[in-house]
Amino acid sequence: MADANEKTQGQLLSEKLSFKIKNVWETAGEKEIAQACGFAEEYKRFLDLGKTEREFTGLCLQALREEGFAPIEEALDRGGVLKPGDRVYRNLRDKALLCAIIGERPLRDGLAIAGAHVDSPRIDLKTNPLYEDSGFALFDTHYYGGIKHYQWTAIPLAMHGVVVGRDGQKKNLCVGEDAGDPVFTISDLLPHLAQEQMEKKASDFLGGEELDILAGSRPYRDEKAEEKVKLTVLQILNETCGMTEEDFASAEIEFVPAFKARDVGLDRSMIGAYGHDDRSCAYAAFFAALRCAPPGSAPEKTIVCFLSDKEEVGSMGNTGAESRALENFLAYLGRLAGGTGFSPEDLRRALEKSSMLSADVNAAYDPNFAQVYDKKTASWFGKGMALSKYTGRRGKLGGSEANAEFCRRVQAILDRNGVRWQYGNLGKVDKGGGGTIALYAANLGMDVLDCGIPVLSMHSPFEVISKIDLYTTYRGYLAFLKEA
Ligand code: MN
Ligand code: MN
Repeated sequence: MADANEKTQGQLLSEKLSFKIKNVWETAGEKEIAQACGFAEEYKRFLDLGKTEREFTGLCLQALREEGFAPIEEALDRGGVLKPGDRVYRNLRDKALLCAIIGERPLRDGLAIAGAHVDSPRIDLKTNPLYEDSGFALFDTHYYGGIKHYQWTAIPLAMHGVVVGRDGQKKNLCVGEDAGDPVFTISDLLPHLAQEQMEKKASDFLGGEELDILAGSRPYRDEKAEEKVKLTVLQILNETCGMTEEDFASAEIEFVPAFKARDVGLDRSMIGAYGHDDRSCAYAAFFAALRCAPPGSAPEKTIVCFLSDKEEVGSMGNTGAESRALENFLAYLGRLAGGTGFSPEDLRRALEKSSMLSADVNAAYDPNFAQVYDKKTASWFGKGMALSKYTGRRGKLGGSEANAEFCRRVQAILDRNGVRWQYGNLGKVDKGGGGTIALYAANLGMDVLDCGIPVLSMHSPFEVISKIDLYTTYRGYLAFLKEA
């Protein structure tokens, strides 16, 4: 008689040949789970203070300075030489940044790079936004990135931005974040009168021009003044940050959800917040870069973290990943490497020999919308860092695909370091698709793999991620930067 507990040949063969992805909450040690929860607390605090690309970049620049990073321009102006362990950064117009820790090996051997984006979908003001209608002062807007318009109505919004006066003085604006602050909102039509509206397709029942924001309703008390409600708002703006109506023409003013990051679920396993795409990956990648070599020590290869802007509108422009910013940064690092100099060919070779993780969120499997996901290749909450071998839509169009060799190399690094990873493909074939910054880096000749954190309700005002995925992904980026 065979022992009932003894495994059959089929069971043993299945164990040997099949690939099963486990839930990290079930497999991680208690210490790791405690660390993950602590990491989530720090992340929530950071996210609440960094709700725009400028604010997030500002927080990162502050962290860089505290951790002994110096502006690369200083070394360039000095004609200095960077040694292994030296830490430098480049601020890209206060909206994006690059930072590096110089490694032991020459740049020609390639760099280990983590890249993410720090912009998120939002509501921007037009250049002449303030108007008065029917007793209301309103802000006219142009939304930024791929949003479902209707999700942004009837929620509290906060005003964030930068105003540059005639004298060139820059002033930051932030209204709606402190408990005592007023907030803003986009009004929505009551269901009682929405009969016609509800019959329209969701894509047109609320147009981009119908996203105007309530700014006030109290007339300035003066018999002779015109547009008195608008005047009250202008007066308050002038008192708050010295601006006049003309300043809107150059200002960058963004409206984002006014609520803070919160734990989601009775078990507090998830975080709901505005801007997880892509600040969850940006945060994980940035702090992995900061911590991959303690001060005074040097990583093997030079490591770089690139936090880019404008991904949600196509990555173009002087702060986007399609720009020359990454290439230029490597050229500057080469210029500062000393030795026998750094030729244009050396730069090309450094780029081609580099490896990068394109750190971006993935659409988590959502049981509410099961029909658009392929369960076999979707990313799942709690199952760790999602690897997206390729992106694109309808026949992989316009995407980027990582080589088999490079994918395997990344998987091996993760496995060696006990970092759980899972698949991360965006939906069923022909159901849609998307892109990231990966292709712009891949175009420079380097190996790039998309990977990041699964997110629910992507591009909505309140996106949700799993705490354990956030921490696992951070550990994945850390392992990659150390060992790539
Ligand atoms: Mn993204
Ligand atoms: Mn996005």
